[in-house]
Amino acid sequence: MTTVSMGIPQVRRGVSLDGRPDTPELVDRFGRVARDLRVSITEKCSLRCTYCMPEEGLPPIPIENLLTAAEIVRLVTIAVHDLGVREVRFTGGEPLMRADLEELIAGCAAAVPGIPLAMTTNAIGLEHRARRLARAGLTRVNVSLDSVDRRHFAQLTRRDRLPSVLAGIRAAADAGLAPLKINAVLMPETLPGAPDLLQWCLEAGVALRFIEEMPLDADHNWAREHMVSAERLLAVLGERFSLREIGREDPSAPAEEWSVDGGPQTVGIIASVTRSFCADCDRTRLTAEGTVRSCLFSDHEVDLRGPLRSGADDAALARLWRGAMWNKWAGHGIGAEGFEPPERSMGAIGG
Ligand code: SAM
Ligand code: SF4
Repeated sequence: MTTVSMGIPQVRRGVSLDGRPDTPELVDRFGRVARDLRVSITEKCSLRCTYCMPEEGLPPIPIENLLTAAEIVRLVTIAVHDLGVREVRFTGGEPLMRADLEELIAGCAAAVPGIPLAMTTNAIGLEHRARRLARAGLTRVNVSLDSVDRRHFAQLTRRDRLPSVLAGIRAAADAGLAPLKINAVLMPETLPGAPDLLQWCLEAGVALRFIEEMPLDADHNWAREHMVSAERLLAVLGERFSLREIGREDPSAPAEEWSVDGGPQTVGIIASVTRSFCADCDRTRLTAEGTVRSCLFSDHEVDLRGPLRSGADDAALARLWRGAMWNKWAGHGIGAEGFEPPERSMGAIGG
């Protein structure tokens, strides 16, 4: 067994606000405003996708370092009331691994009514919780599904759980968690199955978005020449479907849309590597340990958990959060000379 460190990045306590305009919102030096909050709530997962997790899973976060449901509710409330956040998405690891997920969502729904509360999930176990989650206030889910071929699914995720994922998707749709979107990361071995996955989504009436693999795998096996680019994918899909480029719904939406066989159904491609959208990024991230991360690729994090537990008031926590975002980088720099992947892998940040 190889030892994989969680990769605890450089955590900052003080942050420079030099030159920052006097605005409550999460602005940065490049004129972007973050309104979309991703909250990672656990490092645990029921799958081991090769492009994300090490085979043995991530090292467990000591329970005392994990934000509690009440702490998450408080930080989400500050993000919405004081910092202009307009959408919240829970992620991980696998959010369904948290037994108190319903409580956490109900707490957020009561604290920030009207704000969409979404979840990115592998859907394992969703079959048994979709209704309760919808009742608690969850508005929609994005389900990660990379292949509808059971053997490929098991190879890629190192777990034979495709039936459970499909049952979870059905349950989410029945519970009214809409619109339901499917996210797929393709690897060279699953690329030939991409048209079958699209066909399945068209028949099921769910929107599909392909995501280019980013250098965020815990095993550090990512290589640009192996990555399935948007261009390669379009060529394979084009063998079965007639595709026409539509573009983006709005500039900060990461997916570029293509109509399929004349529409109205579409397929999206999130080309994070080959057609980066950093200039329009509107994300801010909270890790499961309570640090703010301004970019997937930046290891500079600002700790909120320590100050929160030491009695900091909302205004002080909001100030720290603003400082973290003011110092956000211009872009991820994949492909630039000297690019180094971040310490944390995707499952330890929250995608
Ligand atoms: N476990 C949940 C899931 O899989 O949906 C939530 C966490 S997962 C880290 C969030 C998203 O990140 C998933 O859609 C997953 O496919 C994506 N992801 C993970 N590793 C990635 C990588 N190296 N490049 C691009 N996307 C990745
Ligand atoms: Fe787990 Fe999601 Fe990472 Fe797959 S992508 S290993 S389901 S956290």
